[in-house]
Amino acid sequence: MTRDPLAAARPEIRALRAYRFEPRPESVRAKLDFNESPADVPAAAKAAALAALSARRFAHYPELGAPRLRDALAASAGLAPEQVVPSNGSGEAILAAVSIFAGCGGTLLLAPPVFSLYFQMAAIVGAKVATVPLVGDDFRLDEEAFLAAAANGERTVPLLCSPNNPTGGVLSHDFVRRLCAVAGVVLLDQAYVDFAEGEDDLLALLPELPNLVVFRTLSKAWSIAGLRVGYAAARSDVAVEIGKAILPFSVDVGAEEVALAALDGRDDVRARCRSIAVERERIAAALRALGVRVAPSRANFLFFVPADGSAARVFRDLRARGVLVRDLSAASPAALRVSIGTPEENELFLSILKEVL
Ligand code: PMP
Repeated sequence: MTRDPLAAARPEIRALRAYRFEPRPESVRAKLDFNESPADVPAAAKAAALAALSARRFAHYPELGAPRLRDALAASAGLAPEQVVPSNGSGEAILAAVSIFAGCGGTLLLAPPVFSLYFQMAAIVGAKVATVPLVGDDFRLDEEAFLAAAANGERTVPLLCSPNNPTGGVLSHDFVRRLCAVAGVVLLDQAYVDFAEGEDDLLALLPELPNLVVFRTLSKAWSIAGLRVGYAAARSDVAVEIGKAILPFSVDVGAEEVALAALDGRDDVRARCRSIAVERERIAAALRALGVRVAPSRANFLFFVPADGSAARVFRDLRARGVLVRDLSAASPAALRVSIGTPEENELFLSILKEVL
């Protein structure tokens, strides 16, 4: 008798919707759906990375723990190397921490709408999910309600994103201090922090808050989403535990060399993030002038709600004209998210949006 292997699969995995998107249309004029950088790694840095990669022996495993990369990430973030755990994209480090602290029956505390993969991570590690939804026209965190929900014992683990994907809102230092005072451990995803203001950098709190874990990525501002490098930053003994929950050699030699070359171009990345922030404010003002509700954002994207609840249609009409944005109506009624691209792409988005609204 043949046995159905799926009968042995955990029900919470079967219940997940696979992370899937419609295939990309043939002609894309502006790809503004994944919060990617509009600029690639500069050609000279690519060439340097490829030369360094070519000199390495592909037959050998990378160095355990990617120490060169760890040192460079630590230097760029003003941390000690022992506080940094490099990972295969920040998603891997977040999953490891969620597993360590909330896995096998703990509760992950989220503030939706938020990055949808957090729900998937909870299912993967066997954690429950509790939510405190964002409130108001500006989609802000209900701080008091979140603090009350977080003060529910060691096995309730808050995971917040600042700037938040998809809304763009940020957490204050004061709130993070209060959260760390009531929760056993606090996980903060800062994938988009490079586009925010200096005061939004929560790594500055690590020396005073030993139960804080911060995640960063090179996928957005640093233009290497295709190579997969991120990291967790925490007190060094917490970093050791996170490192145990990531399989060895997860950052391959190609990603390591490209990341090292990209980190060298730090001043250019800073300048580009500043111009993306300026564009973001310009586009937000233009959207508001069109009667569209826009959440205040410090990231490289805007969360917006067309006036008549027509998000799904607007999404399809933009797509049909080659402009890709993200339809978030499954997570938040009638909402869309647009990434900030080049000024030309942003103009194209605005002009086509005006036609289809
Ligand atoms: N966190 C957030 C909020 C994200 O939006 C993303 C990617 N979309 C990630 C983490 C994961 O990014 P990566 O694994 O590429 O570092």
